[in-house]
Amino acid sequence: MHTKTIAQLSAALRAGEFSSEELTRFFLERISRLDDKTNGYVTVTTERALEAASAADAKIAAGEGGPITGVPIAHKDIFCTEGVPTRCGSKMLDNFIAPYDATCVTKLSEAGTVMLGKTNMDEFAMGSSNETSFYGPVRNPWDLNAVPGGSSGGSAAVVAARLAPGATGTDTGGSIRQPAALTGITGLKPTYGRVSRYGMIAFASSLDQGGAMASTAEDAALLLQAMAGFDPKDSTSVDESVPDYRATLNDSIEGLKIGLPKEYFGEGLSSDVANVIDEAIAEYRQLGAEVIEISLPNSGLAVPTYYVIAPAECSSNLSRYDGVRFGYRCEDPVDIEDMYKRSREEGFGPEVKRRIMIGTYALSAGYYDAYYLKAQQVRRLIKNDFMDAFAKVDVIAGPVSPTPAFKLGEKTADPVTMYFSDIYTIAVNLAGLPAISIPAGFVGDAPVGLQLISPFFDEARLLNVAHRFQQITDWHARVPKGFE
Ligand code: GLN
Repeated sequence: MHTKTIAQLSAALRAGEFSSEELTRFFLERISRLDDKTNGYVTVTTERALEAASAADAKIAAGEGGPITGVPIAHKDIFCTEGVPTRCGSKMLDNFIAPYDATCVTKLSEAGTVMLGKTNMDEFAMGSSNETSFYGPVRNPWDLNAVPGGSSGGSAAVVAARLAPGATGTDTGGSIRQPAALTGITGLKPTYGRVSRYGMIAFASSLDQGGAMASTAEDAALLLQAMAGFDPKDSTSVDESVPDYRATLNDSIEGLKIGLPKEYFGEGLSSDVANVIDEAIAEYRQLGAEVIEISLPNSGLAVPTYYVIAPAECSSNLSRYDGVRFGYRCEDPVDIEDMYKRSREEGFGPEVKRRIMIGTYALSAGYYDAYYLKAQQVRRLIKNDFMDAFAKVDVIAGPVSPTPAFKLGEKTADPVTMYFSDIYTIAVNLAGLPAISIPAGFVGDAPVGLQLISPFFDEARLLNVAHRFQQITDWHARVPKGFE
């Protein structure tokens, strides 16, 4: 059952091959037997899962429900889940039990999915390797000594290890796409505003976007269908109609114009990854696509721009963790100042503190214009590059990560090297565009992802272009050793 896609599970549930309860118990058993290897789950919600599964079975029996009714999934531990710990990878929220469900969680529950549990992540989604989690690193199912990528590393690992058929993730600078690439799954970061941020713990509000992680583009389409849509509780949610993502999956891509940004294939890209991407592009030529070289001239400015804007926003968002209202509070504070200081000193890990300090500095009087304002101006230039490119091409393709998964501990001593793991993903968030990572091949046993980027709100096109590739390749169907 674990090697079936969500689409296949959906059909089997409806055909009565097994019940949602049987399917849920099957995944819970796999989790209890195998999750220790990857540390992908931080919480397993057995009781809530079994209740949801039996409700789903009743719906299916009554001929009600939709295409994902009864399908088990996992949620990144950044999404608030009522009555369930929501820890965001941080000691700061170790004791936090959310009083409500995030909109994404509500929508996926209403669509009939069954939450198996919450997945491990970098602390407050800050990281590219899942090593900043207070709950220990996640291990890549393809190589237990390698990182799964971050920050949605837990979601990526559990989907890759077939400990959940799909999962939610969030992407602020690459956190859905990069771990998807490094673990050989499909990860879709929607347009900013497509999916509600309500109840999704904030890191950098102008960049954060929830999305779907699954084996295939078709499965990502099924999940996005449920997640997407206007939410009055999120002021940046966009009131734009949600198309039927599955209806166009099989559309022909004959004549599709694919742009390859020359800046994404230069120095810094491993030649092994470059070879895999070249072969994937050759497959697209076979499918009738036209490949055109393009330029995104300000690409080199994306990482430094992001590392002003994201820390600035995080320094503001994380000021709410003061030991007063919720979360960690230090013991025996002598006065209120001592309480603020020590609660934050003891509750946050080093990467989060580094970001808060950089962000506070960039926003302080006298530096605001030089750093924050300047970064916002460069952000516009980066967005304009994409707009110019989309005047010539339908989608942009390139690598997701400059290298395959690196070893645990390899980059932790050097934050700047770590930051460059997202060199090909960050610009998309700065522009607010949608993008997908799909399994494109391997370097040895390590998966490599291909990134596809489209104009605003054109997720349907991305899913179509990804699906067509998955019809003629089987990289997405490979299962890591030890998890077969
Ligand atoms: N790796 C990037 C960072 O550390 C992006 C994280 C994310 O997308 N949440 O900020």
